[in-house]
Amino acid sequence: MTDSSIHFCGQSLPAIGQGTWYMGENRARRRQEVAALRAGIDSGLTLIDTAEMYAEGGAEQVVGEAIRGQRDKVFLVSKVYPWNAGGRQMANACEGSLRRLETEVIDLYLLHWRGDFTLAETVEAMQALVAQGKIRRWGVSNLDIEDMHELWQTDGGRDCAANQVLYHLASRGIEHSLLPWCQSQAIPVMAYCPLAQAGRLRSGLLAHPQVQAVANAHGVTPAQVLLAWVIQHQGVMAIPKAATIAHVEENAAALQLRLTADDLASLERAFPAPGRKVALDVV
Ligand code: NDP
Repeated sequence: MTDSSIHFCGQSLPAIGQGTWYMGENRARRRQEVAALRAGIDSGLTLIDTAEMYAEGGAEQVVGEAIRGQRDKVFLVSKVYPWNAGGRQMANACEGSLRRLETEVIDLYLLHWRGDFTLAETVEAMQALVAQGKIRRWGVSNLDIEDMHELWQTDGGRDCAANQVLYHLASRGIEHSLLPWCQSQAIPVMAYCPLAQAGRLRSGLLAHPQVQAVANAHGVTPAQVLLAWVIQHQGVMAIPKAATIAHVEENAAALQLRLTADDLASLERAFPAPGRKVALDVV
């Protein structure tokens, strides 16, 4: 069976990448985190998602070490704090990320969430970084449908290359309007917390009988079912964070898992979408 891929920023990428939140917080774990990211790259999880926020730059340093000598294999995503998302602050924040990531260019730079800068100010600063060759493209994160409409009315706003939002089997609010809108505009959605933080955000999710039943039917793990469920939605990629090689390899293997219509129907019964507009879920 062929691996799932997604059309992302003008190229075809595996529909599962690697998150890095909570990496870089503890020196004793650093070697293992670097090894996990490298194992992920070797297994085809070549998109790496990080942010200046994670461990206040520490996660970017872990990523920088992991991609040393193999930058060209990796699609690098980082994010700017809202209070740095305009003018000179963004230029400085981006320089800091580039230094920690040990690279000359970030493939995709995201506004982490909305703050006091206007979208127009953020777009202008992003465009300047693109023009200087510091970032290849820019996008947003945690923007709901109304924010996306506002962005679409902003000069240059339609160059937005992705929206990164929380999405997992037990949190399906984006299916009401944000996801269909992004699909209609061909804006890829990056699903964060695709494993609901290993069930911490929704206790019992990995052990849920319906998830277990689907996993057993395919001879896979519940985590793999959750990832396959996310990426079977058109234009959606998942960015699970895994700090162990075993988890990384398991997540990479989920690229080959195709859930059947019966699987999807049984998961739908256990975890129905809200069916009405709900506030965008965030962590
Ligand atoms: P995830 O849903 O990815 O869950 C991560 C947890 O799942 C970790 O505890 C990890 O354990 C565990 N795990 C990973 N793989 C497996 C597996 N195969 N089986 C069982 N457990 C597994 O949550 P995150 O919050 O990390 O979200 C993913 C990424 O999305 C972040 O790391 C970050 O890059 C991004 N993000 C973006 C946000 C935004 O505002 N834009 C907000 C939150 C996240 P272990 O580490 O021990 O392997």
